[in-house]
Amino acid sequence: MSEFDYDLFVIGAGSGGVRAARMAATYGAKVAIAEEYRVGGTCVIRGCVPKKLMVYASKFSHEFEDAAGFGWTVGESQFDWNTLIANKDAEIDRLNGLYIKNLERHNVEIIQSRAELEAPHRIRLTGEDRSVTARTILIATGGVPNLPLDLPGVEHLITSNEVFHLDEQPKRVLITGGGYIALEFAGIFNGLGTETTVLYRGEEILRGFDDDVRATLHEEMEKRGVRIVLHDVLTSVEKKADGLHVTTKQGETMVVDQILSGIGRSPYTKGLGLETVGVELDSKGAIKVDAQNRTNVDHIYAVGDVTNRVNLTPVAIREGAALAETLFNDNPTIVDYENIPTAVFTQPEIGTVGMTEAEAIATHDNLDIYLAKFRPMKNTLAGNDEKMLMKLIVDADSDKVLGCHILGPDSGEMSQLLGIAIKMGATKANFDATMAVHPTASEELVTMKEPSKRIRKDD
Ligand code: NDP
Repeated sequence: MSEFDYDLFVIGAGSGGVRAARMAATYGAKVAIAEEYRVGGTCVIRGCVPKKLMVYASKFSHEFEDAAGFGWTVGESQFDWNTLIANKDAEIDRLNGLYIKNLERHNVEIIQSRAELEAPHRIRLTGEDRSVTARTILIATGGVPNLPLDLPGVEHLITSNEVFHLDEQPKRVLITGGGYIALEFAGIFNGLGTETTVLYRGEEILRGFDDDVRATLHEEMEKRGVRIVLHDVLTSVEKKADGLHVTTKQGETMVVDQILSGIGRSPYTKGLGLETVGVELDSKGAIKVDAQNRTNVDHIYAVGDVTNRVNLTPVAIREGAALAETLFNDNPTIVDYENIPTAVFTQPEIGTVGMTEAEAIATHDNLDIYLAKFRPMKNTLAGNDEKMLMKLIVDADSDKVLGCHILGPDSGEMSQLLGIAIKMGATKANFDATMAVHPTASEELVTMKEPSKRIRKDD
């Protein structure tokens, strides 16, 4: 008999933890996974999945508007928040059930309890008042939303944890932050008919993305009716009978029904007992790991958002899989973080892979930038002047496509396929040699002939 209760003990049943647990069990390991909330983690329970369902819900209003130009008379439409939330919850319950079944089918023991490290190989299950031991421990606890804790009235703010379960649809919402969560929810609320304001501290929303995409997204979101306030932050929130009274640093005052804080997430390490066993954190509180996902303590590993590398679900899944391959299938595997395609489900949507123009300028001498901004076909009859943007960043020396950025309908879907080409090292000549699919918006990607900008080292 083994000296430990388990070969692998996973703390956190989100995307990364579940994948590692299931695969390790497939390879014959005795595995348990502890979860204090719901199996599925942020992505399935209160992140990507419910968010995308709400994005779908919010798009209908735009479709109804567009329909008239195609000859439709759409009767008076009404939206019922409670129906959406109930149906969304039912779907999340179904997925949660599937995750549980899948783990059980692979003989992973699910422990519904908070788990904390109490000794290098011993884990305390606080919900069950007992301890277990494991040869290897994986921490996959993800992240938690940040709140501006020193803000007077911070207790009136909600985060992405609560936004999925509001009893009623707010008539007026203020969203703070200019990142993924803030902007995706701005699109959702706006589409559902809520008066929506975004308050962002910086110069332009969505820092880190290509500047043309950021500026065009800003324009298009405003055209759809989202108010975006830049260079500003909250200074106080007070609850009164008619709503939440807000003041900002620039002197704005507003009354709203909800304030959604979208100012980033932090690794969830609080109370895990990491200091007890000597696991090191970085300056942002993330667990430090090497390329093999190993912490400074030999048998303790971490994957996903708790390590704050690339905080995306598919990345956590790959890290979890790599860990199981390495430790339990004698197949050392390292995750490749280069050219990760990604989507932001703003409205309009963003799909992107590879370098932004600014990143390419910082690392390459000579670049050709291809930029197309046009009205997609559907918008002509719809009488909707929303623009689509496509941009290719090409290394003029090697002809390699370094980055591709799309803003507009279905761009998330496109980025998945472009991701393959760019991962394979496609050149602009490869794009040019590819026959267009007509009539589509994406054909623009293979028909861009003249660079809109040539950037040369000696200029
Ligand atoms: P982001 O890091 O994307 O954005 C945080 C935003 O809040 C930034 O605009 C930031 O400004 C601002 N901010 C940070 N601190 C403060 C502060 N103290 N006061 C005011 N503003 C502040 O985080 P999100 O919460 O939107 O998302 C968290 C992570 O979840 C993302 O990094 C992403 O990886 C993941 N995610 C992915 C999605 C997808 O793939 N579609 C969807 C949702 C989330 P500044 O730019 O100036 O730093």
